[in-house]
Amino acid sequence: MNTQFFAAWIQEIASAVRAQRDHLTQLDAAIGDADHGANLDRGFAAAGEALAGASPQTPGALLVLVGSTLIRKVGGASGPLYGTAFREMGKLLGDTAEVSPGRLADALNAALSGVQRLGAAAEGDKTMVDALAPAVRALARAVQEGLKTEEALDAAAAAAEEGAKATIPLQARKGRASYLGPRSVGHEDPGAASTALILGALRAAGSR
Ligand code: ADP
Ligand code: MG
Ligand code: MG
Repeated sequence: MNTQFFAAWIQEIASAVRAQRDHLTQLDAAIGDADHGANLDRGFAAAGEALAGASPQTPGALLVLVGSTLIRKVGGASGPLYGTAFREMGKLLGDTAEVSPGRLADALNAALSGVQRLGAAAEGDKTMVDALAPAVRALARAVQEGLKTEEALDAAAAAAEEGAKATIPLQARKGRASYLGPRSVGHEDPGAASTALILGALRAAGSR
C-alpha cells in the first residue's frame, strides 16, 4: 500500500462521511448534540483539500497531514481523537514508501493507543474504541494467518461494523453520551459508527 492507496482511503472516507452525514447526525441527536455528521464532513473535506494542496510524498506524511487537519477543523471530542489517530498512524509509518498489511496493523494499533491515551476510554464504554479495537485485532489476526490484503481489510471492516452495532445495548461511560446515564442504552454510538465507515473506506480503497 503506497501513498496513492492512502490518498484513495481519505477520498473514500470523505465520500462515505458525506453520504452518511445525516445518519451520523441522527445517531448523535439521540445521545449527544447532533453534530457528529457535520463535524466529520467538514474535517474530511478539509483533509482532502489539504492533500490536494500539499501532495505529501509518503503514506506517513499524508496521514500526519490528515490528522493535523482534523485537529484544526473538527471541533468537539472526535476532532482531537481522530486527529490523534491519524497522526499516530503516520508517525509509526515514518518514511516507509510501501506499507505491508502487518505494518498497517501496527499503525492502526498505534492509532488505538493514541485514542485511548487521550480519551481514556476502555472497550465497553460505548465509544469509537468499541469499533476500532476489534478492527485492530481482526487485522492483526488476518495478517498472522497470511490472508491476502483484500481479505485482511475485509475482516477489519467487518469487525468494526460488528463492534459499532454492539454499542447499542451499552451504557455510555465516556463523552457527552455518558451524561445521559441509562438513557444512552439502546442507541448506536455515533463515533463507533463513523469508525466503522472509516474501516469500510479502507476496504474500499483496497479493492479499487
Ligand atoms: P462531541 O461529543 O464533542 O459533540 P462528536 O459528536 O463529533 O463530538 O463525537 C462524539 C463521539 O466521540 C462519540 O460518539 C464517541 O464515539 C467519541 N468519544 C467521545 N469521548 C470519547 C473518549 N473519551 N474516548 C473515545 N471516544 C470518545
Ligand atoms: Mg456531537
Ligand atoms: Mg459537539
